[in-house]
Amino acid sequence: MVERIYNFSAGPAVLPEPVLEKAQASLMSLGDTGVGVCEHSHRGAAFTEVYDQAEANCRELAGIPDNYRVLFLQGGASSQFFMIPMNLLSKDQTADYLVTGAWAKKAIAEAKRFGTAHEACSSADRNFSYIPREVTYSPSPAYVHFTSNNTIYGTQFHTEPDCPDGSVLVCDASSDIFSGPIDVAKYGLIYAGAQKNLGPSGVTLVIIRDDLIETSNPDLPTMLRYQTHAEKQSMFNTPPTFGIYLMGEVFKWIQQQGGLSAMAEHNRAKADPLYQFLDESKLFNGAADSDSRSLMNVTFVTGDENLDAEFVKAASAAGMSGLKGHRSVGGMRASIYNAFPAKGVEALVALMKEFEAKHS
Ligand code: PMP
Repeated sequence: MVERIYNFSAGPAVLPEPVLEKAQASLMSLGDTGVGVCEHSHRGAAFTEVYDQAEANCRELAGIPDNYRVLFLQGGASSQFFMIPMNLLSKDQTADYLVTGAWAKKAIAEAKRFGTAHEACSSADRNFSYIPREVTYSPSPAYVHFTSNNTIYGTQFHTEPDCPDGSVLVCDASSDIFSGPIDVAKYGLIYAGAQKNLGPSGVTLVIIRDDLIETSNPDLPTMLRYQTHAEKQSMFNTPPTFGIYLMGEVFKWIQQQGGLSAMAEHNRAKADPLYQFLDESKLFNGAADSDSRSLMNVTFVTGDENLDAEFVKAASAAGMSGLKGHRSVGGMRASIYNAFPAKGVEALVALMKEFEAKHS
């Protein structure tokens, strides 16, 4: 077998190896059924058990209260950009958006098709390198939408934004979901494309409070209503069965690691040495403000495009892939999601030190 390398990709991203190994066997036969996981009917007993376990593990892991539904949808996080306003925002209402990056910009653009969308804050003035502290809400927003982790820029909200009492908080948690404890009761809706912390692309986790489903817009195409998916346990049509299976295995793996608080500790222990080195380095600089730094995506630059390219090349030669920064930030981005090994970060820091010594 080809040896695995350190994969710093922003998504699809590294998955836990024990999960991949189990999935490998399950592709041929799910348990002792003699039928592979992708070959089972979504309505049969074997897959029903997979589904029920995945949902139960998700609920247990995040302590999801009973008045929330867990949905496994398709269309990526990008489809939630429009499903949310279609279901929760009427023409005469306003929704507030915290614009902290390109994904938030895409989300607010979709909301504008269905009602009024108010930009409650923005960090566009400094290329989204920070999380704004000043937020101006509209008088009574239908909901407040924020992106908990900004994958491209390497910034992260370390607590929920402080919004008016009774606000319905909606969160795009695509790139930091289950990277630490989350108090679901503070939210109306949480969504995340799976392909960073949870599983393969093609399945999107949506956690939504019952009352939002009940009061959502009934005049929508069937597939675009949360109600449809909630009533049918995500089985109105054929769900992304393999994605749900894999997500279920990732939930189990997180539980085996000690759950979400342990995940937070691991993630901090991985990110800290990298940020510490960036603070000391004379060659590399962190791209995000220090109080806004992400534990999931660490962005950094040398200030010289050619040197950045040289570093990415050196990393590749040393068995590290996916480090090239997003084109809108440049430089490098090390995505170190839940499943990324600490040893990979140590190897990266060692290489950065060596590179710095050679270039200073
Ligand atoms: N939101 C965030 C924070 C993301 O990082 C991404 C993808 N990188 C998206 C939304 C879009 O997700 P998808 O590709 O699943 O539509």
